[in-house]
Amino acid sequence: MYGPLMADDVVKRCRADDHIDLHDRDPGDKLGWDKQWAQAAFAEEMAVVSDLQRKFFAAENTALLVVLQAMDAGGKDGTIRSVLNGVNPAGVDVNSFGVPSDEERAHDYLWRVHAHAPAMGQIGIFNRSHYEDVLVVRVKGFAPESVWSKRYDHIKHFEKMLADEGTHVVKIFLNVSKEKQRERLQDRVDDPDERWKFRLGDLDDRKLWDDYQAAFRDAIRKTTTPDAPWYIVPADRKWVRNLVVAKILRHHLEQIDPQYPPADEGFEGLIVE
Ligand code: ADP
Repeated sequence: MYGPLMADDVVKRCRADDHIDLHDRDPGDKLGWDKQWAQAAFAEEMAVVSDLQRKFFAAENTALLVVLQAMDAGGKDGTIRSVLNGVNPAGVDVNSFGVPSDEERAHDYLWRVHAHAPAMGQIGIFNRSHYEDVLVVRVKGFAPESVWSKRYDHIKHFEKMLADEGTHVVKIFLNVSKEKQRERLQDRVDDPDERWKFRLGDLDDRKLWDDYQAAFRDAIRKTTTPDAPWYIVPADRKWVRNLVVAKILRHHLEQIDPQYPPADEGFEGLIVE
């Protein structure tokens, strides 16, 4: 079932470039996998990720920032849950960014995110992020084009600064189809246990689907860099999404190649009484 797609191929295939078109990326792509196999492979990938994270946490000399963006019902929360299941929670720092508070609004738009950039040894997960300031802000007209159009460059420089200072930045767009979004929103309406997730505003945003897709396309094209790459993850099937995200995490942690710090001198053969 694995076919020709080895881990690096998956990572390469999902990577974005500066002329991507979301229409060319199939949200329902199964990457040649079958569900049962992919679920087992996910557990294996996460075991490797967990091992790498132990060293990364102990080494404390780099950080990893994972930015998660998606349309509503794109699966951000589910992705975070499944990834958190496999790693030491003490080494993970999850932050969600909603409508800015008065205090946040009184500052520049990067202020609130920079404050939550992960510390060395930590994997920071941003559930929404500074990208909202070129997505919802652009689509809903919360700021004029003369303001948001400058932000792509700010963001590139901000992420470059993080990278230069030791934070690996990885950005993931969970690419869900319009039909799958409809299904998931309907489920939220119908299922009493899911209803709390549904906001009437989701329907307004759904009407702006094409504008959001265009805003995502431009954000990804303009800010995907070798230091802070974007990945477009097929997200209609949770089992595909989870395995792809696990492979991306593994790939980047392997690139970091964390090592346990050396023991202090004089530890050799020490007897603890
Ligand atoms: P989620 O949909 O991620 O589960 P919420 O239901 O709390 O979380 O929604 C967060 C909302 O905050 C979204 O509608 C999003 O567009 C909005 N938001 C996030 N950042 C900004 C921003 N900078 N300006 C305006 N709205 C924002």
